[in-house]
Amino acid sequence: MSHIKDFSLIKEKNISDNNDQIYDIVIIGAGPSGLFAAFQASMLNLKCVIIDSLPQPGGQCSALYPDKPIYDIPGIPEISGSGLISNLLNQLSPFKVEIICNVTINMWEYIDHNKLWKISSLKSNDKKNKKFVEISEINNINTENTKINPDNTDDIQNINFYAKTIIIATGGGRFSHNKPPLNNLSKFENNYIFYSVDNIEIFSNKKVMIAGGGDSAVDWAIKLSEIADKVTLINRRAKFRAMPHSVEKLHSIAANNKIEIITPFQIKSLISDSFTSNNIEKMSGVEIESLDGLIKKIVDIDYLLLFFGLSMDNNDIHQISGLSWIDRYISVNPSTMMTSLHGVFAIGDICYYPGKLKLILTGFAEAALACNSAYAIAKPEKPLHFEYSTSKGIPKAISKI
Ligand SMILES: Cc1cc2nc3c(=O)[nH]c(=O)nc-3n(C[C@H](O)[C@H](O)[C@H](O)COP(=O)(O)OP(=O)(O)OC[C@H]3O[C@@H](n4cnc5c(N)ncnc54)[C@H](O)[C@@H]3O)c2cc1C
Repeated sequence: MSHIKDFSLIKEKNISDNNDQIYDIVIIGAGPSGLFAAFQASMLNLKCVIIDSLPQPGGQCSALYPDKPIYDIPGIPEISGSGLISNLLNQLSPFKVEIICNVTINMWEYIDHNKLWKISSLKSNDKKNKKFVEISEINNINTENTKINPDNTDDIQNINFYAKTIIIATGGGRFSHNKPPLNNLSKFENNYIFYSVDNIEIFSNKKVMIAGGGDSAVDWAIKLSEIADKVTLINRRAKFRAMPHSVEKLHSIAANNKIEIITPFQIKSLISDSFTSNNIEKMSGVEIESLDGLIKKIVDIDYLLLFFGLSMDNNDIHQISGLSWIDRYISVNPSTMMTSLHGVFAIGDICYYPGKLKLILTGFAEAALACNSAYAIAKPEKPLHFEYSTSKGIPKAISKI
């Protein structure tokens, strides 16, 4: 289930507003390390922007364990993943730093005569990933995050950012949805098959199949049973891995015939028998089979929701030349967090140095180090005088356009 509602500080902004900006720091990745780096940069009066490939900030905390308690954040005895991200966004809110979501960075180059990095999200063949571009701005207005250009994917051009320095905070990497090995899957994606729910209304009075056994599958089966004509929940295992109280609720709704649970079954193929008036091939159902292969059934459905979890990789950053890698991690100088490229820093789970601990608190300290090192490059004419936050307070907003 989307946790975007936890991030009530998000507001739409037009993409063209960003094209002529020169930032002191472009931060790639809005996980805890990237968010705290933006706070540290802002405390040093450095203008920054955060870019993330996900539709919401928070990295692993939001995407993988929003409700799990974290016990090792200094000074906070216990906080959930989404609670920590809400706090980081709140801490950042005085500076009105832009967080640009659904944009994946996969290129940068140094423009020598301008002494600037040009950081780009190159248009790829993966249109689905570029379908929605959401530009977000943190402020104190409680607005739902909305989408720009939802219909015309081809109109979205490459997105460029110009900056004096870069902080790579891409953690475990870009998230992608795990997909079942079904023929023709891509043909129906975004029309009949989805991996998340963006617009719940389309499921009203429709026949929906949900596949998966975790929290998302169970929570959405419960939610959609309120509006759908029929909800079928299919899982390879007889047991569901979701929160016990959700599983209990699921079974009580199923007992009233509002949800049909089919286990242990899997989807074998997608069925299509017609085209829409726009010449889009229409999915009309699925063939399912029991895990032992003995029982096969056809189920008529309008929509299929697949919740098989997320996987992460840093291939987008790996393909950019000039960085020194140790296995899957970027090698940095631990006293500055600088990579092998002058002016490019790496922090959080993506970076490596001897003794590195992959913990949120380590990422916070690395964020402070990287911003202090970046300052000397971004503002060489103005030496940095170290000051505690208790002495200088919160500087007035500088990143607001
Ligand atoms: C189940 C679980 C429990 C955990 N519990 C704890 C705990 O109790 N305590 C603790 O300290 N740590 C814990 N961790 C680890 C902790 O979550 C990570 O150390 C932390 O999230 C790393 O933060 P990060 O900002 O470096 O990276 P991430 O959180 O991975 O965020 C990176 C962000 O970068 C984005 N990104 C990646 N590539 C690109 C790109 N090319 N362009 C744009 N954006 C990109 C991603 O979308 C992501 O949002 C846990 C992890 C898991 C999975």
